[in-house]
Amino acid sequence: MRILVVEDEPTLARQLVLALGEAGYAAVSADNGEDGHYLGSVEPFDAVVLDLGLPRMDGLTVLGKWRAAGLTVPVLILTARDSWHEKVAGIDAGADDYLTKPFHMEELLARVRALIRRAGGHASAILSCGPVVLDTRAGRVSVDGQPVMLTSHEFRVLAYLMHHQGEVVSRTDLNEHIYAQDYDRDSNTIEVFIGRLRKKLPPGLIETARGLGYRLATPT
Ligand code: CA
Repeated sequence: MRILVVEDEPTLARQLVLALGEAGYAAVSADNGEDGHYLGSVEPFDAVVLDLGLPRMDGLTVLGKWRAAGLTVPVLILTARDSWHEKVAGIDAGADDYLTKPFHMEELLARVRALIRRAGGHASAILSCGPVVLDTRAGRVSVDGQPVMLTSHEFRVLAYLMHHQGEVVSRTDLNEHIYAQDYDRDSNTIEVFIGRLRKKLPPGLIETARGLGYRLATPT
C-alpha cells in the first residue's frame, strides 16, 4: 500500500513518513501543493494524507482538482485547530476523513487503515484467506494461529493481494503499490517476493494467472 503525504512542515512530514513506513506502508512525501497535486495525479496511491495549509497550491484546491479529474483515492485532510469551516470545506471538496492538528500518530494510522479498508470494501482490520490471517493494525501474519515472520516487502505484497482477494493482481500493480519510489521498482523482485511468500504460506494459496499476474486462491 502506497501513501502520499502532502505536508509542508518538515518535522511533521518526516514523522508521518517514518510512522507510515513502520506501519508497513510505502510513504512518499511532497512539501507543497503543486508537487503533491502532480504526484497524486500521475502515480498510483492507496491513500493520501493532505495538509490544507500548503505553499504554492492550497490543499482544498489540490483536492478539488483531483476529484474534478475523477481521482477516487481516499484522502484524509489535516486541518488547523478550531477551524470547523475548513473541515466542512474539505468534506465538500471530496475529503473522506479529517484530523485536527495536533494529533496522535496512532489516531492518524487508525484512520488511514480505516480509509484503505473501506476503499477495498473490507469492514474489518483483520483480513483472512483460509488459514492465513493478516492483522493490518499490528502488521502481523499468522497461519493456523502460528505467527509467520515476513520482511516488510513480503508483508506489503501479501497485504496488497489480501486487499484484492479474488482478483488477478498484475506484477505491474504490485510493483506500483509496494515501493515508495520509482527507482526502487523492479518487476523481477516481485517474483522473488512471491517465491518467498509461497515458501512461508500454505501451498496453493498464491496462484499464478499466466501472463496476467497473481491471485489469492479462495479456500473451499
Ligand atoms: Ca501547513
